[in-house]
Amino acid sequence: PSAYLAPGEAWMIIAVTGTPGVGKTTVSKLLSEKLGYEYVSVKDFAFERGIGEMVGEELEIDVDELAEAMSREFHGRDVVIDGHLSHFVPADVVIVLRANPKLVVGRLMERGYSREKLAENVEAELVDVILVEALEENENVLEIDTTGKTPGEVVEEISELLERGIKRRFGIVDWSGVYDEVLPYLRLGSG
Ligand code: ADP
Ligand code: MG
Repeated sequence: PSAYLAPGEAWMIIAVTGTPGVGKTTVSKLLSEKLGYEYVSVKDFAFERGIGEMVGEELEIDVDELAEAMSREFHGRDVVIDGHLSHFVPADVVIVLRANPKLVVGRLMERGYSREKLAENVEAELVDVILVEALEENENVLEIDTTGKTPGEVVEEISELLERGIKRRFGIVDWSGVYDEVLPYLRLGSG
C-alpha cells in the first residue's frame, strides 16, 4: 500500500523494461526507493531459481516459466521488476524506457558488447521492439523517453503519471531521424 494507489487498490507490480542500456536498472532502483517498493532483477531471480539455462555466456530465460514463478512469488506485494524480459511478467503496469539509439550505442560499447550484440540492440531500440512486445502482453504500458533527462527526472515523470492514474501512454518517440547516424552500427546484409 502506498500513496500512489487509488483507494481499494491493494498492491502493485511494476515492470520496468526496455533495450539494454536505456537505464532500467538505474531507474528501477531509484523508483523502488521512492515508492517504498521491493526491487527485483529478472536476471538474479531467474538465476537463483534455476529458470533458464546458460547458453555460452548468457542465461537464456524461459519467459513462461519466469512469468509463472514471478507472479506466484510477488502476488500481493509491492515490487519493481527490472529487466528487458519483465514485460512478460503479469504486472499492473509496464514501464518501457526509451533512449536515443545514439546513447544506446555509446553505453553498450562502453560495456564491451560484441559488434553483433550491439547491432541487435541498437536496431531493437530504433524500431520499438520492446514497446511492441509490451503492448502485446499488457494493457497498461507507459512509454518514457529518458533522453536528456536525469534518472531522478525519469522517476519523477513515472510517479507523476501513476499518481494521476495514467497507465497507458505510448507513441512518444520517433528515432527515424537518427537512423543515418546509427547506420554504421547496424547489421545490414552479410557485411
Ligand atoms: P539497463 O539496466 O537498461 O541496461 P543501466 O541502468 O544499467 O541500463 O545503465 C544506464 C546508464 O545510463 C547508467 O550509466 C546511467 O547512469 C545512465 N543514465 C543517464 N541518464 C539516465 C536516465 N535518465 N535514466 C537512466 N539512466 C541514465
Ligand atoms: Mg540492467
